[in-house]
Amino acid sequence: MKIRNLFRALYEQLVRPGAWRNVFVTHNAFGIFSKYSHISRRSGQPKIAYPSKAAARKAAEAMGRKHGVHFSVYKCAWCDGWHVGKNAQNKAVRSKDAVAGTFVNCSNAIYENLSSLPIADLAPVYAGGVRGRTLSGRGGRQMLGKVRDAGVRVVIDLRTQDHTCRFDREVAEAGLEYFHLPIDRQKTDVHEIIAALPKLFALLDEGDFYMACAMGLHRTDIAIALYYVFHPSVPCENVPEMRGHRKNGQFRCEDIAARLNCVMRSLTPEEFALLGLPSDYETEFCRRKQLLFERNRNFQKE
Ligand SMILES: [Zn+2]
Repeated sequence: MKIRNLFRALYEQLVRPGAWRNVFVTHNAFGIFSKYSHISRRSGQPKIAYPSKAAARKAAEAMGRKHGVHFSVYKCAWCDGWHVGKNAQNKAVRSKDAVAGTFVNCSNAIYENLSSLPIADLAPVYAGGVRGRTLSGRGGRQMLGKVRDAGVRVVIDLRTQDHTCRFDREVAEAGLEYFHLPIDRQKTDVHEIIAALPKLFALLDEGDFYMACAMGLHRTDIAIALYYVFHPSVPCENVPEMRGHRKNGQFRCEDIAARLNCVMRSLTPEEFALLGLPSDYETEFCRRKQLLFERNRNFQKE
């Protein structure tokens, strides 16, 4: 440990907001003496070191957007660099949130940009997209232009038999990418759905999407539930809101459960590989499904 880095690390701890609390109440500040402030507990390798506070902040913000939780930066006492991390309190807040607090999809830039437009059931989806009623109806063409100007890059269409090919042309003419994935609770062939999931997951990971079924409610919920339950790189505490299945203060999970269970039951070894899931994924599947339903049930009681 170079003395210069130790002093710099101590200095940064003492000038950050809440320094008194970090040193005397939570003892977070003393984490900088731990070798695990420099070495990853999981891999045993040194953490990624950024050359400056600004570079580390930029990385922390990108990670925060991706995972929907706060990351902080700190000067490492052990090397010349800065690292990105979470402290114990952030972690504790997150696990409490998973039981009682807010949903992960609280707001995002595209949602803010679109919220003044007359779009029925518009709502944010994770950090980078929105959901709402289909834009294929009357006035949809004009709305597609506004959606594009708000920063949307791709329209995800979840309709099945009501899907018309005129709409995909309109979307393309508005300068947007069009992705069609038929989703419903049981009629659509499950293997057709599974085959399209990697692309759906990639689009949701990337953000800047407008996702819609006919009403923007039921199938949209199912698509988001598939993303959360079958895409484990989404942190399990980032439970999405199933707003389309709430009616008269009740959360009805049967349709969502039917589709999730059907996918889990039907996965072939090739499809496990396609989704990048281990063959013993069922335990994690059950855990995520339970978290999803518990959180959405608790929400309607509040
Ligand atoms: Zn270090």
